Amino acid sequence: MTPTGGSRNVRALVTVKTYPTPSKTYSELVCTAVVVPGEGLLRLFPIQFRDMPYEKWYKKYDWINVTAEPHGGRDKRPDSYRPVQDSIEVVGHVDSSHGWAERKRLILPIASPSLEELRDQRKSHNGPSLGIFRPAEVLDLDWAPTDREWSGGDHAKLTQQSLFGQDRSPLQKLPYEFRYRFRCDDPRCLGNHHVMILDWEIGALFLYMRDRHGEMTALEKVRDKFLGELCGPDKDTHFYVGTAHYPRETWLILGVFWPPKDPQPALFG
Ligand SMILES: [Zn+2]
Repeated sequence: MTPTGGSRNVRALVTVKTYPTPSKTYSELVCTAVVVPGEGLLRLFPIQFRDMPYEKWYKKYDWINVTAEPHGGRDKRPDSYRPVQDSIEVVGHVDSSHGWAERKRLILPIASPSLEELRDQRKSHNGPSLGIFRPAEVLDLDWAPTDREWSGGDHAKLTQQSLFGQDRSPLQKLPYEFRYRFRCDDPRCLGNHHVMILDWEIGALFLYMRDRHGEMTALEKVRDKFLGELCGPDKDTHFYVGTAHYPRETWLILGVFWPPKDPQPALFG
């Protein structure tokens, strides 16, 4: 890929990457949401994450430099950018010290009040297809079984020769879909959101635990982490969300932002 018209170099903070999906052209692909200071969230897609050299394997809250251009074509979302994969360079990291102070400084100013607000902005004027908001209450995390094996078509995509010839373990099919139930602090909210979670980390946690402790324990560990810990009463939990393209545009949860709550002021008297 070579940069063409509209391409730009950005310094961006990685917030979340999705579990890889099979791709006809690239074997498997990842979508990454990044924050560009002063601008907001951008989607970097496609990225052949596991085919990149290790030094390019960025983590959450890494700063990266990347050359990217707007998608155009079929993807009309204004915040979708096609990265030049070779241009990706990890140049720093924002740690969680001082109660996530620096992460909060970078992320919280771009938060929206609710999922309803994001939906309305998106619909009314081709607004952003990515966002972050604070759910008023996270009610549950649950799961539903799905196909345990890749479909024939997906299997064929995944077994293509990697363009980079890099050896990597086969992409595992997740046998469950995980969803949060939550409500927003918004009069428009019906209070019954039940939204799929695409975060690579929830898939990775499930697979890691399943291989060691079996499936039932792995599911409980996922709930302990993603509900008990990330949405615990001591956390100021936010969801990163974005729209999926097909079959129609739907908002999905890309990941969780879970800084500790600010300490309560001491009570007098
Ligand atoms: Zn809502």
